Amino acid sequence: MSFQTEFKTLFEQSLAQYCQTRYLTPQQLSKTQWYQFIAQVSQQAILQKSQKNRPLTDVRHVNYLSMEFLVGRLLGNNLQNLEVYDFITQQVKQYGAELVDILEQETDPALGNGGLGRLAACYLDSMASLAQPATGYGLHYQYGLFKQSFSEQGKQKEQGDAWGRDFYPQQQHHLDFTQQVGFGGEVKLISHDKYAWKPEWIVNGEAFDLAVVGYKGIQQPLRLWQGYSETSFDLSKFDEGEYLFAEEKVIDASKLTKVLYPNDNHQNGKALRLMQQYFHCACSVADIIKRHLAQGRKLEQLAEYEVIQLNDTHPAIAIPELMRVLLDDYDFSWQQAWQICSQTFAYTNHTLLPEALEQWDQNLLASLLPRHFMIIDRINNELYHQVKAHFSDEEFSDIWQQTAVLFGYRVRMANLCVVGSFAVNGVAKIHSDLVVSDLFPAYARLFKDRFYNVTNGITPRRWIRQANPQLSALLDKHIKGDWTKDLSLLQQIEKFAKNEKFQTAYAQIKQANKQRLADKIKQELGLEVDTQAIFDVQIKRFHEYKRQQLNLLNIIATYQELKANPNQDVVPRVFIFAGKAAPGYFMAKQIIHAINCVADVINNDPDMKGKLQVVFLPDYRVSLAEIIIPAADVSEQISLAGKEASGTGNMKLALNGAITLGTLDGANVEIADYVGNENVIIFGHTVESIKQELKAGYEPMRYYQQDKVLAQAIDSLANGTFSKGDTTTFEMLVKELLTKDSFCTLADFASYRQAQQKIANFYQNRTAWIEATILNTARLGAFSSDRSIKDYQTQIWKK
Ligand SMILES: *Cc1c(COP(=O)(O)O)cnc(C)c1O
Repeated sequence: MSFQTEFKTLFEQSLAQYCQTRYLTPQQLSKTQWYQFIAQVSQQAILQKSQKNRPLTDVRHVNYLSMEFLVGRLLGNNLQNLEVYDFITQQVKQYGAELVDILEQETDPALGNGGLGRLAACYLDSMASLAQPATGYGLHYQYGLFKQSFSEQGKQKEQGDAWGRDFYPQQQHHLDFTQQVGFGGEVKLISHDKYAWKPEWIVNGEAFDLAVVGYKGIQQPLRLWQGYSETSFDLSKFDEGEYLFAEEKVIDASKLTKVLYPNDNHQNGKALRLMQQYFHCACSVADIIKRHLAQGRKLEQLAEYEVIQLNDTHPAIAIPELMRVLLDDYDFSWQQAWQICSQTFAYTNHTLLPEALEQWDQNLLASLLPRHFMIIDRINNELYHQVKAHFSDEEFSDIWQQTAVLFGYRVRMANLCVVGSFAVNGVAKIHSDLVVSDLFPAYARLFKDRFYNVTNGITPRRWIRQANPQLSALLDKHIKGDWTKDLSLLQQIEKFAKNEKFQTAYAQIKQANKQRLADKIKQELGLEVDTQAIFDVQIKRFHEYKRQQLNLLNIIATYQELKANPNQDVVPRVFIFAGKAAPGYFMAKQIIHAINCVADVINNDPDMKGKLQVVFLPDYRVSLAEIIIPAADVSEQISLAGKEASGTGNMKLALNGAITLGTLDGANVEIADYVGNENVIIFGHTVESIKQELKAGYEPMRYYQQDKVLAQAIDSLANGTFSKGDTTTFEMLVKELLTKDSFCTLADFASYRQAQQKIANFYQNRTAWIEATILNTARLGAFSSDRSIKDYQTQIWKK
């Protein structure tokens, strides 16, 4: 019997039972009850199915270690991938319910900040779909990323997200996998070169598994660890004052995984964060070894059967942890242990931003993890000799400054990762080149064959099939073969790009998706937006390097221009923002505040009717992205060149037929290569040109003085136009722009405004625009995360 037939029987029998025990008929079930019922049945089906389809393969098992997994709602995706979505849609319809409404009942688990966590989720989906054996390892935060709302004045407010308190049936609490993790204490020398670590506290790590259901594929776990202990442990014993919890002397282990740190591309060096990292790694490494040994294999063969992929440096401490286990628990020699270890780990770099590169205070690390500190020290010493042997005496000091793992009482985690891994990769071509040329030039000479590129990708199951069902249906109709499994098949619609009937169908879908978003905006903000206008979208974390402030300055300038020339011909535009700022990131929060204030003035100005609107949707998250992305006409990817490692929002938007308005940064470069320069709008400085300008001494004030339009826009932020006369509200933002402008916003302003004008002209030529949007969809196949995973397989994970 096929799975689908079995599922139908299961569904019908369970429904009868579910209703009977509640004295209800299916027609009487509420949306919540439907959700609970379908979630439970699908969970049952997943468990049954997973017994059957675990393939026996010879490839290495991938252990994907990430502090974040931004999975989004799971039920709809699981039903799609189990191929029972249409069946259930029909079933519930027959009882007067709509599956899409039912799926809205699920909470969106926000166990990540942004791109890095979402990438991890896309990769798990692709690995399961490609039958690449894999386990995701992360943390089961009690509170995910905060929920965002806006105050009366438009400032960001944060609220805890206790996602697990709601009914959440997609996870299984697995006590069989519990691990114990030590902290603090001391290290004893037992015999020559043999050490034993006696931790001061022991914490339990309990496993919560989420099933990752691949498309027509296998299921494998995302294993999330949660801290637990019966007795609380006393942190005052640490007595390192500044590092430790200012107000709390005692912490119970459940606090370890209480909350996800809300920083994206920024490290703040908190002790609890390091404890989370070690807890994550210790549980995961122990689980990997347990599974390896249970298969009757020897630890000597670990690298042959297992690879541990580090998603950024956040799990870097797994390297000394594996060394510790091999040395202390299994009596390996240093050379043997290092041989195994350095063939097992692979490291993905996600950022070049100095403020995001993790470094830990040596004393903090040594007090929390004394044995690990010793091991890191030895790694550093071995490296010292290697560098000495490899470079001339003249060069040595400079090279050592760059390559040392321990330097200036700091532990440099990125360096630890490079030294301890057999492969290091960046996440887009331009970024991988910069990793070699700017971040690790000395390492690139020392370890010649260690550096790779794997351009990021996104899963087409979520980012078209689920987010854009109408476009999916159109693609199904016009493409031979299953594009959901092989996204390169999208090429086939290229031949319809000029076809009038296809253009009409494609444009109608965009229009329907814009209407769906307009309804959401009306529901959230009470604002009616013009669906004939260009939907110009910037949705991502708020960070100065992503330059939402550049977008804002152009909006202000446009507003001022329209006020000064009421009869000017304009292409109506709705600027749409969504995104959160880290609670401690003052400048990013001020930019959010400014956008809300500017939106308030513009949206309430009758002169702007039919011309200009500004929308800021609160609480950006995966489920909101799924509504905004299919509705976008323009995709704002305007980071300063060299700062955005890849971006993945850019891929989701282009795939759904938005025209990229972007700098030559991250994956924008490759997107432009694939879709062709006539189908994107590129502007601004390049990596090279901005380097030169900075070298010559960048002065933002010069741009301010030479560009009246720019000056007027900045002045209006300073003089209270958008803050009810209060000239202090945006003082810091204005000061930053005029005196430092760390991300060269002013240097790209004029070029950005020209690019925006190009967009307006382009949009007016309807057929040319639609053709370009179709070509964006047709040519984006390479950005499937299936392609990324295949790249990892052939370049890095191969035996
Ligand atoms: C894709 C995605 C991101 C990443 O967006 P970028 O534009 O690449 O920074 C962040 N958050 C969510 C919810 C996403 O879906």
